[in-house]
Amino acid sequence: MVLKFVFELDSNNGVIEKILIRVADILNIKLGLSRDLKILYAFVDGSEDEIENFSRELSKQLPLSIFLKSLNAEVIEEFKDDLKREFPEINLPPCPKCLNEVKDVKNENYYNPFHHCEVCGYDVNEQWKMENGKLFFELLADKLKKEGKIYIQTMNGKYEVSTNLEDAEQIVAVDLAAVATYFMSFEGDAKALGSIEKPLVNLKTNLNFKKEYELSTPAYLVKLPDCMVLELLCEEIKSDIKLLGLKSSDLSVDFEFEINNNDEIIKAVVTDTRNHDILVDKGDRSLLPKFEKYLGKDVCGINAQYAALSSEDKTVIDFKKKLSDNTEKKEVSKPFAGYFGVMNQYSLEEKVTMGFAFYKEDESKIMINSPKFGLVEYIEFDFKYNSVKDVFAEISAMDETGPKLIANYSKKNPELFNKIINLDLITEKKGIAYLWGLIGIILGFSDDIDNGYKKVLEFANSAMAKKGPRIDYKMKDKNLNPLWAIRTAMSFKLAGVDGYLLSYGIVESFAEFLTNTYEQVTKESPLDGAVIVGDLFEGEFLNKVYTNIRKNYPVFVPKALPLSGAVEAYGEAVIISKS
Ligand SMILES: [Zn+2]
Repeated sequence: MVLKFVFELDSNNGVIEKILIRVADILNIKLGLSRDLKILYAFVDGSEDEIENFSRELSKQLPLSIFLKSLNAEVIEEFKDDLKREFPEINLPPCPKCLNEVKDVKNENYYNPFHHCEVCGYDVNEQWKMENGKLFFELLADKLKKEGKIYIQTMNGKYEVSTNLEDAEQIVAVDLAAVATYFMSFEGDAKALGSIEKPLVNLKTNLNFKKEYELSTPAYLVKLPDCMVLELLCEEIKSDIKLLGLKSSDLSVDFEFEINNNDEIIKAVVTDTRNHDILVDKGDRSLLPKFEKYLGKDVCGINAQYAALSSEDKTVIDFKKKLSDNTEKKEVSKPFAGYFGVMNQYSLEEKVTMGFAFYKEDESKIMINSPKFGLVEYIEFDFKYNSVKDVFAEISAMDETGPKLIANYSKKNPELFNKIINLDLITEKKGIAYLWGLIGIILGFSDDIDNGYKKVLEFANSAMAKKGPRIDYKMKDKNLNPLWAIRTAMSFKLAGVDGYLLSYGIVESFAEFLTNTYEQVTKESPLDGAVIVGDLFEGEFLNKVYTNIRKNYPVFVPKALPLSGAVEAYGEAVIISKS
């Protein structure tokens, strides 16, 4: 009998594949692997008993993954095995088997922080030299409890680990119960946090947190232990301490070892879609190197610290320094590279799609690609001002209410008004990031564009809101006219709307503008889906855009990659391979 397992899996980094191979080896059962764009198939051939044993063992060993959307099984006739069993070497938090072993007193790896296997672990050559790992972690935990902080090397860098959470960069919760006690977390958040990728997730603190820790911080980046060092430390403290604050440090006096891992921990955005699709907006740990389709002999694309190199039978996407060094940057604009990278990953080149490619410090564009007309640029986001004074002058010239608005604004906040009109607007920010930074200045969040942009995002991400005020985003020919957004934001401030809610509205309304743009076009000439790419898409903004469009239409984001970075390197290689 042949049983076929169907894994709806966005990633091809080998995590699920290697677990399947391991279980088949343990039970000595015949395993076949195959895959298409969306699905990994596993075929097991054996007696009914053997297949039942396989399923039981698999359920013990199989980790949750943010890339695993569903799992089904069916009995079929045909066995298939055509997947090349070659997988990239990635850094990955501990797998279920290794976690069991380090906590099993009879196992030779009991309390060995360097224990790992062919599936999980980090690029570390150290051997655990100490006789008694349990005692070592007990002493470390005692010091943390007594002194309130320790300085340790983890698999992901050196940290000051503290029981004081006040200005923690990230929080480690000892388990999911601790997350539920102190944060507002929902179904999808637990799935993301508990996955083997162990991403950081932005979570809002609850009343319990505010009371117990006497802190008013509205939100933190939270993760569960994502390496054996933190895992074993948390095992020792979890009956007394539930949350630890982590801050990057140069010191590691309490536990030191050598490790070769500079990967950035991934940050997950759990969307409000029905299935709570989980997207990665930043980071590369467990995502690189990544194997993609062969694009031709020695075709190479580069973006920032990433490169994509096609040779032999596949394209490898990785850090530039790890690939060939005869690579040089070609002149491909970022929005095109991003759009083509995602299109190629999902084989969308022969479909009609709308591409939303938005960058903080590069061009942003809305584009439409179709087999009939090729690539058409639809909307641009290009504007710059010399001073807030100029912005106000243009708003005054728009219509009759313009001058009244400016007069009211100066009357209501004369101090703010006089300060901002002459502020320096020099920045690398462009497009929407520039506009939001400018609005941040005008609302009094900051004195410069960069910080103003940061504040608007921070407020929007931690606002306790379901719906914000409606900010106008309107077009002028083929360009967005930024003045409408600025003046509506000013009116709401005059009406007394607070900074958090107003920022939420600024972000939410732009997500709605993008959704409306898609809907208007698809009504007239049907589209096959939206592509979202670029570093402007993060946090609540990414959630809103994705969730809104996904309600009725397919949405494609960089597959098993963050929203920006590596995907543009791949896209550049795609474009070069076609030229
Ligand atoms: Zn393992």
